Amino acid sequence: MNTATEVFGSMVFNDSVMRARLPKDVFQQVQRSIKEGRRLDSAAAYVVANAMKDWAIEKGATHFSHWFQPMTGFTAEKHDSFISPVDGGRVIMEFSGNELIHGEPDASSLPSGGLRATFEARGYTAWDPTSYAFIKDNVLCIPTAFCSYGGEALDKKTPLLRSMEALNKQGMRIMALFGNKDVSSIKPTVGAEQEYFLIDKKVYEKRKDLIYTGRTLFGSCAPKGQELGDHYFGTIKPRVAAFMAELDAELWKLGVTAKTEHNETAPAQHELAPIYTTTNIAADHNQLTMELMQKIAKKHDMVCLLHEKPFALLNGSGKHNNWSLVTNTGVNLLEPGETPHENAQFLLFLCAVIQAADDYQEMLRLSVASAGNDLRLGADEAPPAIISMFLGDELYGILNAIENEEPYGGREKELIKVGVHVLPKFPKDSTDRNRTSPFAFTGNKFEFRMLGSSASISGVNVVLNTAVAESLRQYADRLEKAENFEDELHLLIKDVIKNHKKIIFNGNGYDKAWVKEAEERGLSNFPATPDCAPRYLSKKNVELFESHGIYNENEIKARYTIKLENYCKVLRIEALTMQDMVRRDILPAVSSFTKDLAEAATMKRNLSPDIDISYEMSMITKITNLISSANSHLLALRAYVKEARKLEDTLEQAQSYEKNVRPAMEKLRRDVDKLELLTPTDIWPYPGYGDILFSVN
Ligand code: ADP
Ligand code: MG
Repeated sequence: MNTATEVFGSMVFNDSVMRARLPKDVFQQVQRSIKEGRRLDSAAAYVVANAMKDWAIEKGATHFSHWFQPMTGFTAEKHDSFISPVDGGRVIMEFSGNELIHGEPDASSLPSGGLRATFEARGYTAWDPTSYAFIKDNVLCIPTAFCSYGGEALDKKTPLLRSMEALNKQGMRIMALFGNKDVSSIKPTVGAEQEYFLIDKKVYEKRKDLIYTGRTLFGSCAPKGQELGDHYFGTIKPRVAAFMAELDAELWKLGVTAKTEHNETAPAQHELAPIYTTTNIAADHNQLTMELMQKIAKKHDMVCLLHEKPFALLNGSGKHNNWSLVTNTGVNLLEPGETPHENAQFLLFLCAVIQAADDYQEMLRLSVASAGNDLRLGADEAPPAIISMFLGDELYGILNAIENEEPYGGREKELIKVGVHVLPKFPKDSTDRNRTSPFAFTGNKFEFRMLGSSASISGVNVVLNTAVAESLRQYADRLEKAENFEDELHLLIKDVIKNHKKIIFNGNGYDKAWVKEAEERGLSNFPATPDCAPRYLSKKNVELFESHGIYNENEIKARYTIKLENYCKVLRIEALTMQDMVRRDILPAVSSFTKDLAEAATMKRNLSPDIDISYEMSMITKITNLISSANSHLLALRAYVKEARKLEDTLEQAQSYEKNVRPAMEKLRRDVDKLELLTPTDIWPYPGYGDILFSVN
């Protein structure tokens, strides 16, 4: 057995492989293009491609693929083999510099939100040298961006790279103002904690809803759920442990730093956290993690559910996006420092995030909006659909003291002058207490907790990076003009706290009273995707993305359209699956059970006219009433889906799904779940919640 240190990165064309295999000057060129985002010239690309190919073939690869992240949120790949015919009917293995840098997958069936109708039908892929190539299933995968011929982003990576650049540009202006001469770049870092469920393949295969929609559309609670809290951080079952060990090993080979694996709150729920890295790499790695989780689960006769809310009334799955900013010299800009100067810089970056979250609440909410996540946000265990930030009492106290020019501290209280005083020490772990906040400062990073478990992390990071870049742009504009930097800085920080502290909430985010308070504070609250989707197109949001060169208006419209289309499609599939299950499996099964009951009652009566048949009769009545009610809800659901489909405007269609189809689904579910509790286990056509949740031993 190889040790972790031996296997780590063994399938990655990383710096050490490049150093060993590339001529020195080419290696340096690649490093420069990684650091400065510069394009490799074609001669160098030719050398890199050749070295990559030789390395990949030695590792058993036969094909290469441009690996990209279309707007579906999944990854896409098209495999080409290395073979190239030569004289004599033979082939050689070839991979040109051009094939490395540039690809033309047809991929015209991927969603473009209308972008490709106006330009060339084909899209092209371009190498992202900042994320290493790797080998997966004997295919050399080259991380790429995916664009239209008009240069418009058709993927999730391009805007992410652009947003990192925007943040670097504005952040460097602030670095200069603070006199950080050694810093040449700033990058956002992300650690994405991934939650998921593991269930046995046999029960999965018996549930049409899990197969078609990834979640249970019916299911009454099992006698035992998560109430004992015995699963969270509990002993890991051998089958799950074997899965986790294989997952870790495979991720390590791909250079993904899988670090922590543990059981989560709900039965059958687990979590994996990697060590953080640069955002675009973290996004690539999270995609690989989700892919490998599903693949490896199958090998262990299990299925990995990545849906945000696979089971009603149990915790859903999220993805915590831990976000910070790091300089090329290794300084975490969200880490309070030791000196007044470091503290002042920290406070300014902290303010930039606070302002960003307040100014662009709608965009943050939108970045996590999906049919699946709507079921989770606002449910008991998940952060609400309202954006707020948690800073902890100590840090909030310091900000308040600065704003109000009040003394702060322990015994020796003093006025805090930004840039002159050291911040009073606050214990780091005190900032991590609040688990109900959607966006919590956790000592040296922000943890954004609203993202759904199945989502790509790119969207939310595009918003975070760009919104923070905008705060920093405003600060740099103001501070660059200042006569006295330190005085202006102090005033600026005071202003930001005053204007944006409404977004800070240290209380319980799950509390119903918070919804009311948030409204009084003027915070936005969009419970469902169709409610917030139109905010994509508001002037303020379009301006943000256009001014920082992230999206043009067409690119934003494309994302708006895709979000709504996806919402409609998901709801339609769910509604159709429900109808199929009810009409073809559930109602016939329960109806035949009433036949059994009626036969039993008749037989008993034949034995003796006085015999008590109250059990059979009351069951027949209850079940028949529920069948009638379910049947009418089924017909209503069908009519609502038809009605929604007729609407041509995508927004109206999505609204109709939300307003009519979703409630009709809930009504149908309520009847069916009651029926489940009245029907013998062997007659009910599907494994129940108990069978599913405790299926892995
Ligand atoms: P938990 O949230 O479970 O208490 P931690 O706070 O230790 O665990 O870390 C959670 C995640 O945050 C990990 O993926 C970790 O690598 C990541 N993380 C830690 N520091 C940073 C940072 N500076 N930038 C981004 N992510 C970070
Ligand atoms: Mg965490």
